[in-house]
Amino acid sequence: MPEHGEQIRPPGTGAGRKDTRRENAKRTPAELEEVVLAIVRASPRPLGAYRIARQSRVLGVPLAPNQVYRILDRLGGRVHRVETLNAYFEAGGQPGAITICRGCGRTRTLDAGYETEVDRLCRAAGFRPSRVIVEVVGVCPDCGGK
Ligand SMILES: [Zn+2]
Repeated sequence: MPEHGEQIRPPGTGAGRKDTRRENAKRTPAELEEVVLAIVRASPRPLGAYRIARQSRVLGVPLAPNQVYRILDRLGGRVHRVETLNAYFEAGGQPGAITICRGCGRTRTLDAGYETEVDRLCRAAGFRPSRVIVEVVGVCPDCGGK
């Protein structure tokens, strides 16, 4: 699978990247958040923290996976975690159901009205849900799903 996002330039990077670790220490949390967001945004597929960390090294802003997790945490509603893939994509707000294509790996969000039915089924089972996650794995229209 090809690496995506090689063209991304992290904020505040010029031509010289002598001591990237020292440069990172000078970066604000907001700048590091922008780096992670830019990496996630540039990928057509959700990315895991390790992949984001590898990509950050390519960009000359090396982040350790645990740093990436912390940053993803801070990004809150701007990125969404795909539980099935343990990977992240950019999302405005809380998406409804997520479709994941087995062919190309792209995810899409669906406006969903399923919550009411899930709530009803849970209530009927005497279960009080605190969080509902719906991820549908299948084939997208571009990959032959119709
Ligand atoms: Zn597809």
